[in-house]
Amino acid sequence: MPGSVVALWQGPAQPLRPTDRRIALLLDTLWERHFADIPRVNDVVVGYDYPWKRHLGRIRMTLDQRTSQIGLNRLLDHDAVPSGVLVAILTHEIVHYAQGFGSPLPRTHRHAHAHGTVSHELAHRGLARYEDELACWIEGSWPSFERRARAERQAAARADRLVPCAVASRVVYSL
Ligand SMILES: [Zn+2]
Repeated sequence: MPGSVVALWQGPAQPLRPTDRRIALLLDTLWERHFADIPRVNDVVVGYDYPWKRHLGRIRMTLDQRTSQIGLNRLLDHDAVPSGVLVAILTHEIVHYAQGFGSPLPRTHRHAHAHGTVSHELAHRGLARYEDELACWIEGSWPSFERRARAERQAAARADRLVPCAVASRVVYSL
């Protein structure tokens, strides 16, 4: 039903995790509080996406225009990320939706970021401080956070790979 937000599922067999639910709830709340005048004319889904090197978030629409997908960089699914940073990214993507980028709504500009249009809209809606918080966080914390978060992901992936080996060796030695 248009108007409902659900987190992106990572695959048909994988249930929503608590962090997926939190991000969906946050998007819903932000939309209700700050963008109540912007109709959701298709389904909007949100979730943690790929751990991009150069993007913290993005919005895109399926070819049939039935769904708009807001994706957050997967590295941001981490306790060390301040909630203001998530608010800044989600509201930035909602502005794109409102201005017809990644959504079926009519485009208000030729280019999504022309003339600081997103920042103007966020300021107009009283959300500039989150954008400032994000800018400070990117400048002061992102480089070290990114290194740590990527290292943690690699360690977790290595641990995952080790499990089947240990299981296999037990099986071999018990024969
Ligand atoms: Zn943007």
